[in-house]
Amino acid sequence: MNQVNRVATLERVSSFLKRNHGLYIDGGWISAQSTDTLPIFDPSTGQQISTTIDANAYDVERAVTSAHKAFVSGVWSRRLPAERERILLRYADLLEQHAEELAQLETLEQGKSINVSRAFEVACTLNWMRYTAGLATKISGRTLDLSISVPEGARYTAYTRKEPVGVVAGIVPWNFPLMIGMWKVMPALAAGCSIVIKPSEITPLTLMRMAELATEAGVPAGVFNVVTGNGAVCGKTLTSHPLISKISFTGSTATGKGIARSAIDRLTRITLELGGKNPAIVLKDADPKQVVEGLMMASFLNQGQVCAASSRIYVEAPIFDQLVGDFESAVKGLSIGAGMDPTSQINAVASKAHQRKVESYLAEANALNAELIRGSAAPNNEGFYVSPTLVINPDDDLSLTRDEVFGPVVTLTRVADAEEALAKANDTEYGLTASLWTNSLSTAMDLTPRIEAGTVWVNSHTLIDANMPFGGFKQSGTGRDFGVDWLDAFTETKSVCIRH
Ligand code: NDP
Repeated sequence: MNQVNRVATLERVSSFLKRNHGLYIDGGWISAQSTDTLPIFDPSTGQQISTTIDANAYDVERAVTSAHKAFVSGVWSRRLPAERERILLRYADLLEQHAEELAQLETLEQGKSINVSRAFEVACTLNWMRYTAGLATKISGRTLDLSISVPEGARYTAYTRKEPVGVVAGIVPWNFPLMIGMWKVMPALAAGCSIVIKPSEITPLTLMRMAELATEAGVPAGVFNVVTGNGAVCGKTLTSHPLISKISFTGSTATGKGIARSAIDRLTRITLELGGKNPAIVLKDADPKQVVEGLMMASFLNQGQVCAASSRIYVEAPIFDQLVGDFESAVKGLSIGAGMDPTSQINAVASKAHQRKVESYLAEANALNAELIRGSAAPNNEGFYVSPTLVINPDDDLSLTRDEVFGPVVTLTRVADAEEALAKANDTEYGLTASLWTNSLSTAMDLTPRIEAGTVWVNSHTLIDANMPFGGFKQSGTGRDFGVDWLDAFTETKSVCIRH
């Protein structure tokens, strides 16, 4: 790494990494029964930087029991909404005060640029926290006129109440561990639920720190618990626990389907935010500069490890060659290096296993003579780097054309017209996001309803907002996060019918 540009690690961050970590249960750190541990690596060097507990079933049981006890006690669930809101706003203020610490922890365990950690992950998390805190005081039902006519002369009035669903299990992936973690914690707490959260085993540190800040903000003991561990034992025990009333899962489609199958046995409420293979349709009247700027960001932000990333770009024939040239210049101009170096634009991917997976897609494409345009070479160290890569006009049967690669790899395909682009864009089992690039309003209004995706951007891609619902069509998931109705997924509707 270029040591001159490296951001100095805060003393608070260094000492947090060195701690003898436990599990966050009942408002504090406790020693686990499990003696197994998990190493945490800095993806930019491949070196171990911390160690966490690999929780066993007994440890998970303690966390769920603590959350359940807190829930039934009413210490949080029956608190005045304005008090919950005030504590959650204080919680957001604490993140703001500790912004640099959280940004550094995120970059050190996940690999992404410190610029992205500061300006996107921490800054957006703050926005979402404040938005969601405000939802705590907006929970409401309806009054209902009824037509029940027995016994004769009786009259009835009913109303609906939204009540917190109970104990939530939050399962978090490794690409945006802080932000996605708080997308589970905040709506759960705003609704009055308790939560047990399991971060990805490779990126648990930011959520562990956020648990401490929650207690400091005034969230009562037991309401917010963190168990660290692997998916097969810790994740599975948590999501299949009978005291869990709701699962909020973000991760791969394969894992999500497995959890959904087990949830159906107990009819546990479930929201699934899953994978994507997101198309961008570029029509010949689009502004090429806007397209290249927008889609370079949308394809390579966080090394393409973004569920909403544009990973398939379909370009109308008349501007295809020009755009390929522009993308090639842009990709070859990207500098590669450590996330803690703010001048590096492409950083390491999150793990050695993921680096191998992404490279195996590229090796297959290379072996089958696909046209690959690769950016600068990775630094010469043990870090988990993958050069940013464009794949030009790939065959449909290449694995990387159909699978979610989740890396710095994007395909560019020439299409005859908008109809061919639309057919190819929709020819996937996924349906998370898409974008359409055109200067024609009527074309945009005609095509957007025909694109099978939960979010469609026109002349942009990957821009999300707390007030805009987000979720997938088809196998990209079920349910929606964000927006004014977000807490519906963390509440049950109770009808109360009164005879008078
Ligand atoms: P995984 O599905 O591999 O893992 C997600 C989480 O599930 C991890 O915490 C994992 O633990 C846990 N897990 C694994 N197996 C089980 C199990 N049997 N029971 C309970 N929990 C389990 O996804 P990744 O972490 O690899 O994340 C990348 C994926 O997430 C991509 O497909 C991406 O598209 C998707 N994603 C979707 C988003 C959306 O909003 N739609 C947003 C961001 C990402 P462990 O780490 O120990 O394996």
